[in-house]
Amino acid sequence: MTQNIRFALPQSEIPTHWYNILSDLPEPMAPPLHPGTKQPVSLADMTAIFPENLVMQEMSTERWIEIPDPVREVYALWRPTPLLRAVRLERALQTPAHIYYKYEGVNPVGSHKPNTAVAQAYYNKIAGVKRLATETGAGQWGSSLAMACQMFGLECQVYMVRVSYNQKPYRKLLMQTWGATVFPSPSDQTEFGRKVLAEDPECPGSLGMAISEAIEDTVKTPHTKYALGSVLNHVCLHQTVIGQEAIKQMALAGEYPDVVIGCAGGGSNFAGIGFPFVRNNLVDKRTTRIVAVEPASCASLTQGELRYDFGDTAMTTPLMMMYTLGHDFMPPKIHAGGLRYHGMAPAVSHLRKLGLIDAVACPQTKVFESGILFARTEGIIPAPEPAHAIAVAIDEAIKARETGEKKVILFNLCGHGMLDLPSYDAFLAGNLTD
Ligand SMILES: *Cc1c(COP(=O)(O)O)cnc(C)c1O
Repeated sequence: MTQNIRFALPQSEIPTHWYNILSDLPEPMAPPLHPGTKQPVSLADMTAIFPENLVMQEMSTERWIEIPDPVREVYALWRPTPLLRAVRLERALQTPAHIYYKYEGVNPVGSHKPNTAVAQAYYNKIAGVKRLATETGAGQWGSSLAMACQMFGLECQVYMVRVSYNQKPYRKLLMQTWGATVFPSPSDQTEFGRKVLAEDPECPGSLGMAISEAIEDTVKTPHTKYALGSVLNHVCLHQTVIGQEAIKQMALAGEYPDVVIGCAGGGSNFAGIGFPFVRNNLVDKRTTRIVAVEPASCASLTQGELRYDFGDTAMTTPLMMMYTLGHDFMPPKIHAGGLRYHGMAPAVSHLRKLGLIDAVACPQTKVFESGILFARTEGIIPAPEPAHAIAVAIDEAIKARETGEKKVILFNLCGHGMLDLPSYDAFLAGNLTD
């Protein structure tokens, strides 16, 4: 053995606090607005669907927010997650760059989403909530929340976009195994769903429709609250355990990244790896480039407009100041389902506006080529979403080869692709285009 490639931390190094980037912003964020009055949303507006403790977190500007012990206890099942150096990928690319990745696929769900699902289930539980309602597209978020609800003794009701429900049964089966009730959306469980079905019994559904059903369920069912897996401040906050651990692990490796890369759909895993490094740039005058990677076909940060927009198609959520392609934008059916969102987290959007982060868009054939090179060198089959981050990490490593620069690159491998093999099948069969 000549060099270390795996940088593990003991359980005692699980972060004790989440890092709140709102405390370090050089300029405050624009507040979310009530869709009817166009005034900043009040605590009362928000507590109609979220428990008060999470609403307080959503609005908090406290820098370090303590992680409750019961949440750290669940985190200990898989955290700290490993940081690895991709030496076999470096060799394949013949680059002088050092490439590191933080691997968030090691928990039972296989992605970063349980970092917030566990926290949200806990806060709902101590607020006296008995049941959570949510939506899910391909099922990453629904399965994370189903597992978290089971761990804290909550019921979980998931509205899953109908095409995915029919075509992607495995994550539905995960949710049911973890005790959740799953309905294909549009469903006959809500007035909105029944109305859509009356007009079109074959309706394939969409994330926007599923959100509308989950919110209707929440406001009409006693003891029920709603949970969201991305976009909101408290979701980005919970993900910051990723970057905090990565900073310690890079120190174990004796290096500090010149570039930090994350894929961005709603923005939460990017926030998780990136925000602690943004803080180091702001406070310790580091100069790390922090890059969000989005699909070329759904590129809110690089091609969208910064303005107030709704979070959902049915225009029921508060208006948020964010980079958006428009709430009625219909993203093409690219295979990175988790990146098909019209908007971007307001916190990530704000950093982009202030020039504190960078954004790049990537076409899907390049993404799958990168994912396959990674699988063939490092072994792990990446989910299509983080394959976007891998594509940009590879670009950076190739640039370093051309300039001879010993650049240090870090990216977030936010999930594995073991349940996404049909999209690799489509790519390998030559059926994917840009
Ligand atoms: C949900 C998901 C995403 C997109 O969500 P973000 O909030 O942008 O992180 C990306 N990758 C994976 C594996 C996901 O499950």
